[in-house]
Amino acid sequence: MANYEDKIVCSLVEDERVVVYVASSTSLVEEARVLHHTSPVATAALGRALTLTGIMGAALKEGQRVTLHINCRGPLGAILVQANSRGEVRGYVSQPLVFVPPREDKKLNVEEAVGKGSQLSVVKDLGLGEPYAGYIEMPRGSIAYDLAYYFALSEQLPSACSAGVYVGETGEVLSAGGFIIHTPAGTPPQIIEKIEDNISLLPPLSSLLWEGKTPEEITGALLSPLPYRIVGEKKLCYHCYCSRERARRTLMLLGREELEELLAEEGRAEVSCPFCNRVYLFGDRELRELIEQGSNRRFDS
Ligand code: ZN
Repeated sequence: MANYEDKIVCSLVEDERVVVYVASSTSLVEEARVLHHTSPVATAALGRALTLTGIMGAALKEGQRVTLHINCRGPLGAILVQANSRGEVRGYVSQPLVFVPPREDKKLNVEEAVGKGSQLSVVKDLGLGEPYAGYIEMPRGSIAYDLAYYFALSEQLPSACSAGVYVGETGEVLSAGGFIIHTPAGTPPQIIEKIEDNISLLPPLSSLLWEGKTPEEITGALLSPLPYRIVGEKKLCYHCYCSRERARRTLMLLGREELEELLAEEGRAEVSCPFCNRVYLFGDRELRELIEQGSNRRFDS
C-alpha cells in the first residue's frame, strides 16, 4: 500500500494555459469502501467518482462546492459525490453490493456496472446564487472518459481524464488515483500531441501508485519533456459535514402531517446520513417542537 497521504498536485504547462491535476486517493477510497461495505466493482466505480470529483473540488475557491451525480442505467443505481475546495470529499452508491461478471481481461467491469447511456450531471455551487449545472448522457459508462466528454461539451474545455482503483483479492483498496488535464482552446497542437503521446504510454494509474509513484512523479511522466511547474498541492480526504441542524432541516421538509404521523406512531424520528451512515435521533419533545416551528413558519408566510 502506498505510504504517503492522499493529495492532489496541480501544475501549469509552459504557456500557463494547460492545467494538470494528479491525485492519489488510496486512503480516501478505502475509507469509503469500509464505510459503505462496497463490492469490488462498486468500490472501483465510487473510487473513480470520488477521486475525479475531489480534483474538480480542488479547482474551486473557498466556500464553493461541486456535486457529481450519475444516474446509472447499469445495476449500480446511482452514484452521488460531493467535494469542496479543501479537498474534502464524500459520496455513496445506491447499490453498494452490486456484482457484475469481470471483463475478458479479468478486470472489474466498471463500465457495465455504470452502464452506457447513464445520465451524468455536475453541479457547481459557486456561492453566487443559482448553481452552475451541466448534464450529459454518458457515451461509454466509463466515469473518467465520460467526464472528459462532459468538460468538452458542457464547459467547452477540452480535457483528458483518467482514474483507477486497484482492488485486492479480499476487496480492500490497494491503490487509487486519477488525473484531469485541461487543454483550453488555443493550446498549441504540439503540446496536446506530446501529452496525448505520454498518456498513451502511461501504465495504468493504479499500478503506478501501487508501485509507490507519487503524484509529482506521475505529473512528470504525463508532461515530460514539456517545461512545467507545480503550482499547488492539496490534501484529499473523506469528510462528511452533516450535522444535527441539517438533519433537523431534512425532517422539517417532511411537512406537518408526516411529522405528526411519526410522532403518533413512533414517538421519535431517525435521520441517517447516506454519506457517513451517522444516525440523528429526534425524540418526542424535539418532534413536537419541530411541528410547532413548522406550523409557525407556515402561519408567518
Ligand atoms: Zn454524514
